[in-house]
Parts: sequence; structure tokens; C-alpha cells
Amino acid sequence: MNESSKTPVVSIAQAHDVWAFIEINRGKIAPVSLEILNKAREMGDILKRRVEAIIIGHNVKQYNDYLISLGADVVHICDHPDLESYIYDKYVAIFYSIIEKYLPEIILIGATHIGRDLAPRLAQRLHTGLTANCTKLTLTDGKNKFGKNLLEMTRPALGGNVLATILCPKYRPQLATVRPGVIKTGKAVASQQARILEIEYSETKFPTKLKLVKVLDNIVKHVNLEDAKIIVSGGRGVGSKKNFEMLFELAELLGAEVGASRGAVFDGIIDESRQIGQTGKIVSPDLYIACGISGSLQHMAAIMDAKVILAINKDPKAPITKYADYNVIGTVETILPELIKQIKNLK
Ligand SMILES: Cc1cc2nc3c(=O)[nH]c(=O)nc-3n(C[C@H](O)[C@H](O)[C@H](O)COP(=O)(O)OP(=O)(O)OC[C@H]3O[C@@H](n4cnc5c(N)ncnc54)[C@H](O)[C@@H]3O)c2cc1C
Repeated sequence: MNESSKTPVVSIAQAHDVWAFIEINRGKIAPVSLEILNKAREMGDILKRRVEAIIIGHNVKQYNDYLISLGADVVHICDHPDLESYIYDKYVAIFYSIIEKYLPEIILIGATHIGRDLAPRLAQRLHTGLTANCTKLTLTDGKNKFGKNLLEMTRPALGGNVLATILCPKYRPQLATVRPGVIKTGKAVASQQARILEIEYSETKFPTKLKLVKVLDNIVKHVNLEDAKIIVSGGRGVGSKKNFEMLFELAELLGAEVGASRGAVFDGIIDESRQIGQTGKIVSPDLYIACGISGSLQHMAAIMDAKVILAINKDPKAPITKYADYNVIGTVETILPELIKQIKNLK
């Protein structure tokens, strides 16, 4: 139990139950949290373990019944105005205190901005492994040397060229962050014997070195690429900020979000909050429209879960043409105005 030594906080013998972190973002549950809760329920049923939801924030008690209706047997809740926004040291300390007391076997966290910050900090404090950005979660069937019912965490590796399946056989909890939109959810079954466990919050118990000055709503609010069903994305081939306006117009017509390659961000024609790729956001839309994007490995690795890719590129030999489901060969300047016109005609 000693944090500074390498003694595990949760031993294999003690570990039990499957947990899902329920992330609240601007007063709403992040959709990926419901996906992982559903997955936790599925695993809890197989392992015959409880499914526990962890929720930290302000005005979050309203979600208790909802989480129980989705299968949570226990809801650990910490509700206080100080927790309205994600303050990493408070959230980590609260989460850690619950783990230390209740000793989970598995923890699933959405691979959102918050999840990608929270999970490695927890892993470090718990002396356990973390598999980030998982696209598939299963349990071992006992045919390997590690035995049955270990968490099998699958994620893209080497720039998306291979899928790696990773186990954490020696440490607990088994900790994974999960890409939004990739876990197929089954039917929710309400828990029959649910409990709510409240964590008492105080500033002295969970202090912070940080002071939240301002949440930059106007930047963050409009860019929600992770949950977008349609993304219109532009690369260096878009050429200018002015041309990017066509992508925004098309996105508006389709109810889509606008994304970008690093090439476009690097050229300063679009804000980096829209970058998709290995060093940007990872997305899984139903439709990805790539305009003037060559299709580098670093870009493609982040869109491999897109259901349909439509590429608009003037070069018929651009690498993206091999990945795309549909290719339109031509310049952005000629194709986009025509596409916008046709969609307007249909409306
Ligand atoms: C460690 C590392 C991390 C990286 N992370 C990322 C990342 O997160 N995201 C990312 O995107 N990249 C990333 N990159 C960069 C990546 O390797 C590519 O350089 C980048 O994706 C290229 O962007 P692009 O496709 O917009 O530009 P380019 O490769 O220059 O391609 C432009 C494309 O536009 C086409 N084109 C040109 N003019 C027109 C026109 N008028 N109409 C239609 N088509 C046109 C061209 O035929 C070409 O295919 C990373 C690289 C490294 C090394």
C-alpha cells in the first residue's frame, strides 16, 4: 500500500469487479462512457463480478438512476462545485482513494482528452500497466499461458499498420482507455441490487496546486471530432483559409464537424484543435470526407474506424485513394462548390 515503493496498490488476489469511469463534459455524460459501461456490464456478467461506475463532478447525482438502469451495480459518486471542471490532481486523488478502498480488477476509461490525461496518472500511482486507445476489449479464453478471463486489450500499433493485443497479467487493476465510438454496445440491463456510495469531498482532503482561470468555451465547444458522425476534413491541398470556408459550408449542410491534417495545421490554414492523426484526435465517424489529404500513415491511423471514407484529391495516385471507399479525382476548388450546390438543391 506504500505509494512511493513499487508495492502494488491492488494485488491480484484482492482484485475484483469491473469499473467504468463516467466522464462529465460540460454537464453531459461523454457518449464513450456509456459505451464502456455497457462493455463493463458484459464483462461483469461473464466474470460474475459487480459493475461499478465512478462519477466525479458537480450536479452529477442526477445520473445515479440512469447509470443503474444501464447496468451499474454500484455508483461511486463525488459531487461538489469544486469538481465542475476537470482538475487533474483532484480527480486523480479522488479516483485513487476509491480504488485503494475497493480494489478493482478492471478499469475502463474513455480515450477522450480527459481520459487520456487521467488514465496514465492513475497507472503511475497504482504501479500498474495501461493500454491506451483500445479499439477492442475481450477476455482471454484460457488457451494461452496466462489463463482465463484476463482483459485482452487490442489497439493499433506501428502507425496503424498492425493491431496489437496486450495483456496485463502481473498487475492490477487492468487499465484501458477506449476510443470513442468503436465498442459495439448491446442492450442495457438494469442492475437489480444497486448501491450508491458517496465520497465525501473537502478542499483539504483533495487539494490542488492548480487554479482554473478560464475555460475556453469558444475554442473547445465547436470542435467535437471524437463524437462526430460525419467529418469534412481538409489537408494541405485545400491551400488557403479562404478555401477552408467551403469545408465549413459543406459541414454545416451535412451536420458535420470540420477536421484537418497536420499538413494543413502546419501551413497555418486551420486551427490545431481540429488536427486528426497520430498527434491529433482519433475519430470514428460514419462518413469521413478527406479533401486534399494525401493519406499519410500518421493520418490514416486515426481514421481507420471510419465506416466510409470519401477522398477528394487531384492526384489519382495519392496514397489515400487506396484506403478510400469512394474517390473523386479533381481539385477541391472545382469539386466542393459543385457538391455544395447539389446538396443545396436536394434540400
Ligand atoms: C511523428 C509524426 C506525427 C505526425 N502526426 C500527424 C497527425 O497527427 N496528423 C496528420 O495529418 N499528419 C501527421 N504527421 C504528418 C504526416 O506524415 C503528413 O506529413 C501529413 O499528414 C500530410 O498532410 P497532408 O496530407 O495535408 O499534406 P500532403 O501530404 O502535402 O498532401 C496534400 C494532398 O493534397 C492533394 N492536393 C493538392 N492540391 C490539391 C487541390 N487543389 N485539390 C485536391 N487535392 C489537392 C495532393 O495531391 C496531396 O495528395 C505526423 C508526422 C510525424 C513524423
